[in-house]
Amino acid sequence: MSGSERRFPKSLIEFQGRFASESECAEYLFERRWPHGFVCPGCGDGRAWLLKTKAFTYECAGCGRQTSVTAGTIMHASKLPLTTWFWAAFLMATHSNGISALQLQSQLGLGSYRTAWMLCAKLRRAMVDPERKPLSGVVEADETIIPFRTKNDPVVVPAGRSGVGKMLVAGAVEVDGGSPRRARLKVIESFSKGEIHAFVLAAVAPSTRLVTDDWPSYNDIPDIKHKAITLGPMAAHIVLPWTHRLFSNLKRWGLGVYHGLRKTNLQHYLDEFVFRFNRRRTRHAAFNTLLGIGARTAPAPYHLLIRKTAQQSCT
Ligand SMILES: [Zn+2]
Repeated sequence: MSGSERRFPKSLIEFQGRFASESECAEYLFERRWPHGFVCPGCGDGRAWLLKTKAFTYECAGCGRQTSVTAGTIMHASKLPLTTWFWAAFLMATHSNGISALQLQSQLGLGSYRTAWMLCAKLRRAMVDPERKPLSGVVEADETIIPFRTKNDPVVVPAGRSGVGKMLVAGAVEVDGGSPRRARLKVIESFSKGEIHAFVLAAVAPSTRLVTDDWPSYNDIPDIKHKAITLGPMAAHIVLPWTHRLFSNLKRWGLGVYHGLRKTNLQHYLDEFVFRFNRRRTRHAAFNTLLGIGARTAPAPYHLLIRKTAQQSCT
């Protein structure tokens, strides 16, 4: 554990005290980025001076290259104060259910919904660690159907209402000594062998012991030790308790935070849910992970985040 992690605030009051100013946030970023002192990303020189004309930007004494503490992070080139980013990441990482753009807007007193939505979208994009390791050991896998609502549907949808569609989701949970560890969720097009095999091969490591129900699409996955359990009179929550719980928590979360998930950007919501699930016991460290992952994720300009109906999907 690094020094900055050890000193990381455990409460809102501590957080407020620790990151009260722009320079305190910048210092934290500097520590994360250059734990052993400044290193120029251009020439590797360690000598640099802080520019007076550009915020938190260092000029290399060797090659003259200017590097901001936010370069390469999701905060780069943003006009928002670092304190706003830090608060947004903290709320997103530590709220047990996450936080919507509307909630973020009111909690941070942001002037526009667009700004809050952009913050939300950028943080959500930083939630998938590109270097994450596949699930291994014993893994439960299952699939589920969740309803989605369209833009024009009311928040409370009467049963059987037309316009409410179904989304198919595949899920897997790594189980260690009877307890769940990490999970994966993916939007799939069908429950076919092709879709299920592609999900399992991307989510779990070779030689994993995969436990599923007797749905034939799970058969014959290369390099996987598969154990299919015939459900029969046994309910799924007994045979596959952790995927069952994952799916029911996902559905409750979607209804509670987003008033029903919508089809646009569904995978991003699944990623957010999995991010929170995988860090459910280390919520404060999730903030570090969020910024740490952010530092490895290429900045996403606003226009790339916008899709046709994306603005309606983060309410
Ligand atoms: Zn340099």
